[in-house]
Amino acid sequence: MRLSDSVKLLPGVGAKRGELLSALGIECVEDLLYHMPIRYEDRRSFTRVGSLAPGCPAVVSGVIKSVEVRPTNRRNVHIAVLEVGDDTGIVGVAIFGGLRRMSPLKSGANIILFGTPSAPARVGKKQTPHLEFSSPEYELSSDSRKLAARWHRLLPVYPTTEGMPRAMIADIIYKCAVSPELIINDPLPAEIIEKYSFISLKDAFVGIHAPSTYEEIEKSRNRLAYQEFWDIQLKTARYRAQRCHCRARSLSAGSAMLERFKSSLPFTLTASQESAVSEISKDLDGVTPMRRLLMGDVGSGKTSVAIAAIAKCAGASLQAAVLVPTTILAEQFYDACRRYLSHLDIVTAEISGSVTGSARARLVSDLVSGEVDVLVGTHAMLSDMVEFKSLGLLVIDEQHRFGVLQRESLVNANSGVHTLMMSATPIPRTLCMAYHGDIDISEIRGLPDGRKGVITRVVSSNHLRDIYSFAADKISRSGVRCYWVCGTIGDESSDEDSGAVMSRARDIEHNIRDIPVLRLFGTMNATEKSEVLRRFRYETPGILVSTTVIEVGVDIPDAGIIVIEGASGYGLAALHQMRGRVGRGTRAGICILLDSARNIKNSRRLQVLLECDDGFRIAEFDLELRGAGEVSGVRQHGPLDLRVADAVRDRELMEAAIDDVKTISIL
Ligand code: ADP
Ligand code: MG
Repeated sequence: MRLSDSVKLLPGVGAKRGELLSALGIECVEDLLYHMPIRYEDRRSFTRVGSLAPGCPAVVSGVIKSVEVRPTNRRNVHIAVLEVGDDTGIVGVAIFGGLRRMSPLKSGANIILFGTPSAPARVGKKQTPHLEFSSPEYELSSDSRKLAARWHRLLPVYPTTEGMPRAMIADIIYKCAVSPELIINDPLPAEIIEKYSFISLKDAFVGIHAPSTYEEIEKSRNRLAYQEFWDIQLKTARYRAQRCHCRARSLSAGSAMLERFKSSLPFTLTASQESAVSEISKDLDGVTPMRRLLMGDVGSGKTSVAIAAIAKCAGASLQAAVLVPTTILAEQFYDACRRYLSHLDIVTAEISGSVTGSARARLVSDLVSGEVDVLVGTHAMLSDMVEFKSLGLLVIDEQHRFGVLQRESLVNANSGVHTLMMSATPIPRTLCMAYHGDIDISEIRGLPDGRKGVITRVVSSNHLRDIYSFAADKISRSGVRCYWVCGTIGDESSDEDSGAVMSRARDIEHNIRDIPVLRLFGTMNATEKSEVLRRFRYETPGILVSTTVIEVGVDIPDAGIIVIEGASGYGLAALHQMRGRVGRGTRAGICILLDSARNIKNSRRLQVLLECDDGFRIAEFDLELRGAGEVSGVRQHGPLDLRVADAVRDRELMEAAIDDVKTISIL
């Protein structure tokens, strides 16, 4: 069995389980082994029945002394009331389920229970005689020694999905990790393994998924975290080596066009934008392919900087491609290019799923012939085999929205092309270097002059009606537009979400009159979405109720208010992004973070947002907050997309890996 084998080949994984695993993003053995536990349950020491205490979780091994099965009020659900004992006493157990589940529960059987016993209860007039486990985890066996061996360990608890009980996924992973047929080639050079006394990669997987001590977990996690940093460093080192041999075309012939572009802008670039433009421009003059990340807070004016680079490219008679993560952003970038470039005779085209038939054929031929200077599209553009006459510049907007692999393969496939990546989610510089390896960074600090910024307030959802009338008042008096974000977090295209949008919109309409209420959600198609946004932008000012589809980059200058429901559930960076949708004109924006009084009280994140307005500092807070109080093996999803390691907690390992890859020549 190899890491790349499909999980569907594993014993015990049929089509049904295969599908459930797919839902968890697990397709091959490697994915399965990298499915990390959230925490561990310590089941190593068994408790004698006589020493059980109410409220304290415990594992008990005993024998079933008596069984009584009764129906309950619910159809097909029975209750089995057991008495389980060892030589120190008797404990009561209640197990619920269908009759099939009840039949193996026989007097005299060995049973292991895991759960938290509760104190004897009063049922009617009768007092139950023993402590009781209600719906504990349990296992039956005729061989009590074998049973104890299986239980005598630290049990990993995994994230799972509906239809896949915790015990099932744990079992699949356990069997795979300890399987003697599993072959894992250790990619680390022997000297590194020796240097840190690392355990082997295979042992590390066993130590994570089938540990017997906490020390073993720690050792295994260290090995895997180091491995992860090592892999990233090695990959970027290889790219770097390749890149040294690659030559790009110098775009210095476009310098005059860049100046024309700048002087035709309706505003002057800020000092910070200027210096980003000149850093980029210098890269473009050279023949080493540019790899630059432009980071800047939302609304800081990254798009104008990118368009300056595009102008320079077109001025040098080469083409530029702009890649964005969503169709809404494609549309917006396309508009901006036309607004700022068409009077300079630079032709921009947009490619999307809705460009079909003869229009598409014409576009494709215009690209090959060089009629089109700039092409804007989502990543669908890549799979469409578009061909350029001569591509000089690739711009990737909101680059963190693309998967790491997607982005890497993209940049690599265009290794001789200057590449500008943009991100509104700032990553602290050291992490960024470590993660991307060889990349140059330009930062835009601050907002364009005249911006008033955003006033942020946290409001309890008890005051929903007040918010309605506050928004209505602002909209009708000063003509601002209002975003209202609701729905489940992180999944913007579920039906549940469109439901949340619909019912919030209805409620608003019910409570306030004469203000248009628009609806936007993930399951709408691209044409519907851009039509809604067009109306929100240009028609009578109103409220746009939406899911988080508006999170990334949408630019509507009149948007003055944003209300975010369930705010404490979002990450800091996401909230800051959303808040950046407003206050883009000359008036201060208003951001209202709604949540239950209790969540508000408990959320340190919301507090940070009230106090801090700088995206870079917020990003650091985000990392710090995540870094605090972690348990061994906790899975993290940070901005860096790491599977095991945590960029804050494992910083030392990361630095070690950076040095090691530099000093050991295995390229
Ligand atoms: P970002 O992509 O960084 O979020 P944008 O490039 O979309 O920001 O810029 C936000 C808005 O600010 C746009 O409407 C843009 O026209 C405007 N803008 C950009 N730079 C300046 C500037 N130097 N002065 C005034 N307005 C600017
Ligand atoms: Mg942008």
